[in-house]
Amino acid sequence: MQKTIRGCSVHVVSICDVRNQEDQMKELRCKDLKKGCRYVARGRTIRSIMKKIKKHARMKHEIERISAAMTRKARVAIHAV
Ligand SMILES: [Zn+2]
Repeated sequence: MQKTIRGCSVHVVSICDVRNQEDQMKELRCKDLKKGCRYVARGRTIRSIMKKIKKHARMKHEIERISAAMTRKARVAIHAV
């Protein structure tokens, strides 16, 4: 059994996204979802970025739950840096 080490994305597998290259740093700008926000979520996996953006959305935009439509929008907006 493999343990997921905090901060290590090696064992985190994204099944949904074949474009997801684990070693490539990626970012998602919140302004692509919410105009005027300067927050940028960075990570090596889409999963970790989505986790950050969800937390940010809850704290800064009072969005308790990100809709499926917004998740799709976010995934499209994630790009390599
Ligand atoms: Zn924001």
